Amino acid sequence: MDTISAEERSRLMARVGGKNTAPEREVRRALHALGYRYRLHDRALPGKPDIVFGARRKVIMVHGCFWHRHSDCPFARIPKSRVKFWTEKLEGNRRRDQHVVERLQSLGWAVLVIWECEIRDRAHLNARLRAFLGPTRASVP
Ligand SMILES: [Zn+2]
Repeated sequence: MDTISAEERSRLMARVGGKNTAPEREVRRALHALGYRYRLHDRALPGKPDIVFGARRKVIMVHGCFWHRHSDCPFARIPKSRVKFWTEKLEGNRRRDQHVVERLQSLGWAVLVIWECEIRDRAHLNARLRAFLGPTRASVP
């Protein structure tokens, strides 16, 4: 992340809060393969959560490690230039995320955050998704 060019940085910047990012599509693929059905980007809910399970009252947020400040994650290192700018910007993102989670929880929604760096290990991802969502309708006798 530290060696990224200004041009690449501004391209990435345009995707902050973007929908249908690659990590999000990956999680959706995993959910689909496991047999779960969901809605996307419910505008009526705080933070327009990425993936919504209305009947279960559960949401999944897929976060990029850098933009959402995944703690102790190598992908979330603050760039070496303009440290103050980046620290304030990224901390702002993290505070906003925290606020969204609290608002969702206060409305009775359970929230699972999946980090970008957790997606590559598909078995681990599947286990987390299953633990959070419980059985699919198809697997309930
Ligand atoms: Zn991470």
